[in-house]
Amino acid sequence: RQFNVVITGASSGLGLATAKALAESGNWHVIMACRNFLKAEKAAKSVGIPKESYTVMHLDLASLESVRQFVDNFRRSGRPLDVLVCNAAVYQPTAKEPSFSAEGFELSVGTNHLGHFLLARLLLDALKQSDYPLKRLIIVGSITGNTNTLAGNVPPKANLGDLRGLAGGLNGVSSSPMIDGGEFDGAKAYKDSKVCNMLTMQEFHRRYHEETEITFASLYPGCIATTGLFREHIPLFRLLFPPFQKYITKGYVSEEEAGKRLAQVVSDPSLEKSGVYWSWNKNSSSFENQLSKEASDAEKARKLWEISEKLVGLA
Ligand code: NDP
Repeated sequence: RQFNVVITGASSGLGLATAKALAESGNWHVIMACRNFLKAEKAAKSVGIPKESYTVMHLDLASLESVRQFVDNFRRSGRPLDVLVCNAAVYQPTAKEPSFSAEGFELSVGTNHLGHFLLARLLLDALKQSDYPLKRLIIVGSITGNTNTLAGNVPPKANLGDLRGLAGGLNGVSSSPMIDGGEFDGAKAYKDSKVCNMLTMQEFHRRYHEETEITFASLYPGCIATTGLFREHIPLFRLLFPPFQKYITKGYVSEEEAGKRLAQVVSDPSLEKSGVYWSWNKNSSSFENQLSKEASDAEKARKLWEISEKLVGLA
C-alpha cells in the first residue's frame, strides 16, 4: 500500500518541498495539515503534486480546539498514520509586543511547541497502530536554538531558564509571555520554541521508543533563507539574508534540497535510529549531530513535558 504521512505547515517552504519530494516518489500519500485550506490547495497545484497523492486537512496549531478537531477528522478518514512530521512554525523577529494563541499562550511557543505537543500526543496511538515497520515521528528543529553552534550564538540566545513563564501559562498577564520569565523578545521566543521541539523529541524517545518501536527524530535541514519564515523581517534583512547565507556562512540550502533532506528523514530506511538530531555536511550526507547542553538536558525535557501536559489539558 501507499504510506501516509501528515505534514504540518505543508502550504509553503520546507513543508511544501517535502510534500512534493515524497509525493514524487510514488510511495507516499501526503496529508497536508494547514491553517489556510485554499493556500495549501494552490501550493500543491503550483508545485505539481498529483491530485491523488495529497489531501489537505485543516489544522490551526494556534488553537488547541483545532488540533483536537484535526485529530478527530484524521481518525474519521480511516487512513492509517505511518509518519507524522511537525514542521509548521511562526517567527516574529520584529514584533514589539507579544501576540497570543486562542488559549492565550504567547504565539511562537503556543504554535511551534504547544500545538505540536498536543498533536503528537493525540496521534501517538494512531502511529502505534500502523503496521509500517519504519513508523516515525519527526519534529523539525533548528540550529538557532542550539547554542553550541556559531549561528546559535547570535543574540538573543535561546534560554528556557527554570521554565517559570511557561509554568505560569505564558499569558502576558499573570505570567511573563516568555518561557524563562523575561521580557518579550520575538526572536528569542522562536528560538526557545525550537529548543522545546528538540527536547520534546528526545523525551518522546525516552518514554516511548522501546515500547512502540516508533523512531523519534529531529533535524536541522540547513538555512533555507528564502522561505516564508522570514516574512515578518525588515525588507533589508530579507534582501541580504539569502546572499549572506550563500556566500558568507555557506549554510544556505535551497527549499528543494531541504525538502529532500526532510523526505530522507521520513522515508530512508538507513535513518531508523531513534532519538537523533540529523544534520547534513557540505557533501549533503546526513550525520548525527550534537545538541547544545540545554537542548539535551534530560531533566529539563521531563519538566517541559509535565508543564506542557498541564497547559494543553492532558494532565
Ligand atoms: P514557512 O514560513 O515557509 O512555513 C511555515 C509553515 O507553517 C507555513 O505553511 C505556515 O502556514 C505554517 N503555519 C504557521 N502557523 C501555523 C498555524 N498556526 N497552524 C498551522 N500551520 C501554521 O517556513 P519554513 O518552511 O522555513 O519553516 C518550516 C520549518 O523549518 C519550521 O519548523 C522552522 O522552524 C524550520 N526551519 C527553518 C529554517 C529556515 O532557514 N527557513 C532553518 C531551520 C529550521 P501558512 O502558509 O498558512 O502561513
